[in-house]
Amino acid sequence: MCGIVGYLGARRVNDVLLTGLKRLEYRGYDSAGISFFENGNIKTIKKSGKVTELEKLLIGENCTGSLGIAHTRWATHGEPNDTNAHPHSDQSGKISLVHNGIIENYISLKKGLTKDGYTFRTETDSEVLTVLIGAIYEAENDFEKAVRLALAQVEGTFGIAVICSDNPVQLIAARRGSPMVFGIGNNEYIAASDASAIIQYTRSVVYLSDNEMVVINKDGFQTKTIENDLTKNKIHQIDYDLEQLEKGGFNHFMLKEIFEQNSTVKDAFRGRLLVDEGNVRLGGLSDVAEKLRKAKRIIITACGTSWHSALVGEYMLESLAEIPVEVEYASEFRYRNPILDEDDILIAISQSGETADTLAAIKEATQRGITALGIVNVVGSSIARDTSAGVYIHAGPEIGVASTKAFTSQITVLALIALWLGRMKNLSATQGKRIANAMKQLPEQIEKIYEKVDEIKAIADEYSSSRNFLYLGRGYNFPVALEGALKLKEISYIHAEGYPAAEMKHGPIALIDDNMPVVFIATKDEIYDKILSNIQEVRARRGKIIAIATEGDTLIQTVANHVIYIPETLPMLTPILAVIPLQLIAYYIAVKLGCNVDQPRNLAKSVTVE
Ligand code: GLU
Repeated sequence: MCGIVGYLGARRVNDVLLTGLKRLEYRGYDSAGISFFENGNIKTIKKSGKVTELEKLLIGENCTGSLGIAHTRWATHGEPNDTNAHPHSDQSGKISLVHNGIIENYISLKKGLTKDGYTFRTETDSEVLTVLIGAIYEAENDFEKAVRLALAQVEGTFGIAVICSDNPVQLIAARRGSPMVFGIGNNEYIAASDASAIIQYTRSVVYLSDNEMVVINKDGFQTKTIENDLTKNKIHQIDYDLEQLEKGGFNHFMLKEIFEQNSTVKDAFRGRLLVDEGNVRLGGLSDVAEKLRKAKRIIITACGTSWHSALVGEYMLESLAEIPVEVEYASEFRYRNPILDEDDILIAISQSGETADTLAAIKEATQRGITALGIVNVVGSSIARDTSAGVYIHAGPEIGVASTKAFTSQITVLALIALWLGRMKNLSATQGKRIANAMKQLPEQIEKIYEKVDEIKAIADEYSSSRNFLYLGRGYNFPVALEGALKLKEISYIHAEGYPAAEMKHGPIALIDDNMPVVFIATKDEIYDKILSNIQEVRARRGKIIAIATEGDTLIQTVANHVIYIPETLPMLTPILAVIPLQLIAYYIAVKLGCNVDQPRNLAKSVTVE
């Protein structure tokens, strides 16, 4: 998920690699490392922390060759410490590799290699791939073939750059699911996970496709599939500036992250969802499976956006796993002497894994003998370390302060947990398959919502001068209403309230007049008729209605001023789709108002104070 740079050429290798890593820093990472040649051997230096820390260690290093690779790691498997940092080397020390992505079958590959006598130094999935390449190289004595054959055995995603000390002028890079591009300079080549590390040296680049690799030698390169069929690639000329590149061509990180949700939702269930069995595999929770099955109550604690996903989780867990669930603001939980039973389980949700109140709530619960589990994005974060078990959401670095992709990934993970627990209890395989199939379709359905972006922007423009907004939803869509209102408040500074639609009559209805936009999340479910009545109530008071509705629902057009359609899914999964137009409305209103979208005033990305 993070940064890769590889260089072959006449410049001082370490300088090019370090400059490249610095260009990739914006993506967020937890450790950095580099491999270069020193007197014919590969030397690797790696360190948790910032690239500047690595830079200090490199002072005085005698880098003699013309080849090297470097990495900024965003840990998915194994803590972000010095050992787990990349590059990794094989047992012989001849091969060095950097990897972005997740090797899903690393456990079975590792078992096979261990049986053959290979040993491992790190907890990472990436080291397993390195050792596998080394093992094949030992047998075949052909570096390129070893990389190809190893990649053919890998399940999951990878962007890699790999070198071998027997071939000091050969750089191999490959990709599946993680980006990889290489730049062609004047007798020099730079491979990188994103072109911002390349642009300073050359603007001529080739983007690799999935299952494609490039073999770069001193006097040329060859691209081929990992099945060894040669491929032809267009050389692109980059004409954007650096800042645009870092944001992947988007104007803001928030927009980029909104548009990543088709893949981040997939990354959250990838390798975990067993569609054919209608079940789920969650390695991180297997040790507490029995405890969870027997739990009398689950308490989910979180803050902000994560608290909204906790509410969705409450409904899912109660309906599929039939366990009573309570959702608590972390800041309230710890100060109100909660009554806890030893069969209760606490689940803490936090994107950063560092949220101070959530950490304190975990401490409070564990001191009272309660098992605490974590749902976090950042591997090795404090919450990941302070809980007995957990599930990573694997959303990649979230840079925009207003959380978007972490929200949909948290809900995806909560759906996995609910389905898994449900199947351990009374949920039938048929029901399980229905849910798993619906989850599988989400990435494509999200892409369909992206096609509506112009329509959504036009609505945002029309209402950008409103000073108040109401967001209303029922059932699974109530937390979505809360989240939609929060997004708008956070980045546009417009006052917005989220409410359960029926509660409107008990207060907020007094605010409605012809200046008040009301966003209804009114998708087709068993309470659709009820929400239609709520829409009528707003209409009768001349409020302006923006409805998020299910594709094919024509009735809603007769009552709403604007309808944004989303694809049909199960009610429990609707929040994942319904929130996307709301994120986009908030984004485009904030842009129209000239607000600082990625760094809204007064807000911090990770709230590490109480
Ligand atoms: N899965 C690898 C690890 O945890 C790669 C992480 C990355 O993409 O930075 O080391």
